[in-house]
Amino acid sequence: MFDFLLTAEERQLQEEVRRFVKEVVPSSLIRAMDAEEVKYPKEYMESLATRRLLGLRFPKEWGGRGMKWTGEVAALEEIGVLGSGMACLYSLVSIVGEAIHQLGTEEQKEKYLKPTLEGRLRCAEALTEPRGGSDFFGATTLARRDGNFYYLNGQKRFVVGAEGADYFLVYVKTAPEAEPHRSISCLIVEREMGVEVKHVYGLLGSRGGGTGRLYFRDTKVPRENLVGPENGGSLVFNRMMIPERLTTAAGALGMARCCLEVATRYSTRRKAFGETIRKFQAVSFKIADSIAKLDAARSLVYVTARHVDQGLDSRRIVSEAKKIATEMLWEVVNHSMQVMGGIGYTNVYPVERFLRDARLQMIWTGTNEIMDLLVQHEFYQEVMKRGNEARDIEKDAGDVEGEEEKIYE
Ligand SMILES: Cc1cc2nc3c(=O)[nH]c(=O)nc-3n(C[C@H](O)[C@H](O)[C@H](O)COP(=O)(O)OP(=O)(O)OC[C@H]3O[C@@H](n4cnc5c(N)ncnc54)[C@H](O)[C@@H]3O)c2cc1C
Repeated sequence: MFDFLLTAEERQLQEEVRRFVKEVVPSSLIRAMDAEEVKYPKEYMESLATRRLLGLRFPKEWGGRGMKWTGEVAALEEIGVLGSGMACLYSLVSIVGEAIHQLGTEEQKEKYLKPTLEGRLRCAEALTEPRGGSDFFGATTLARRDGNFYYLNGQKRFVVGAEGADYFLVYVKTAPEAEPHRSISCLIVEREMGVEVKHVYGLLGSRGGGTGRLYFRDTKVPRENLVGPENGGSLVFNRMMIPERLTTAAGALGMARCCLEVATRYSTRRKAFGETIRKFQAVSFKIADSIAKLDAARSLVYVTARHVDQGLDSRRIVSEAKKIATEMLWEVVNHSMQVMGGIGYTNVYPVERFLRDARLQMIWTGTNEIMDLLVQHEFYQEVMKRGNEARDIEKDAGDVEGEEEKIYE
């Protein structure tokens, strides 16, 4: 239904990723990740890289395909079928890659971006701190510059890839006395530079990515690993938030779709009171509600992809897409479980795993409350800037004499 939005090349990519998801990734790996027997699925990342499926938007010279966001969204919807852990690791290349590609030096692209897209290096991002993730500019991890090196002290937590990544994109305070938006810098920190991993978390879902806490104790990082300007971390952050949120939104489409399909098929076979349960409107209307919401979210995510591709200021729409798609996912997975009754709650079917995965989507890459914060901020600004350019519908109110009743304080 949505294929018409894609170019021939994007449709081919979608098919390619669908085949990869179906034929290459073994169920045993998904099970092992969920059982936390795997700390980082290195082979999965390598097999994506071998097929040049990582970092699709980046130019061919760095190992990408020079495609647009619409292509990446289509690919991510397919990857989402593998669950949140796999989709996250796939997305990290796009997120970290965006920072290096847009604001990194040629040397950084050669040293980090290229080998990442080739599957020779694994990346992660470290923004969140134990003291809080939402208040990004309140970060307290310090980087003191001395000559050509920074010395890092502090902690980051909830870092996916803490166990398996070769390097981390880390946001640090380089000017603690400056106002928050001009106080942070972004550094590429290699594990070998002295990153300690202390605590690997037991998670409800999205397992197998080795999510842990990082410690920096006088970790020495060369100045050439600075991404973007010193104290200009906000530039990198604002740029990174586009892939950060759009990848979450796109992955959510695939996660919702596959659960809904399992529940739909189930409802055509399961019987109660002598009827297949799809005959009960309480069941089939849940399917209807789910598919309508999935299609609505998908429409928004694709429009957002086009918006970003046009080079427009996409902060508001990307935040909306992240919120709407992840809330849709939560509803659709819950509906799917409800349609399946008790067996949906067991691990005889994979819907329970997706339910655990889905819960996270509303929390990470900026909570949905932070999305609301951003959306309202941008919208208030737009409305107030626009003033009364358009028809003043207040004048169309039934009570034309009611002006004097408009009392505001
Ligand atoms: C499994 C997992 C993987 C993750 N992966 C990564 C990763 O790879 N790298 C990384 O850097 N981070 C990662 N995160 C961190 C994630 O992005 C943060 O947890 C998230 O941004 C929220 O930060 P917090 O947990 O510190 O919550 P807090 O910031 O403490 O927020 C707590 C609550 O307060 C609300 N709140 C806070 N401020 C406001 C406000 N101004 N207005 C309204 N409500 C507000 C929040 O919405 C939330 O409900 C991951 C988290 C998890 C759980």
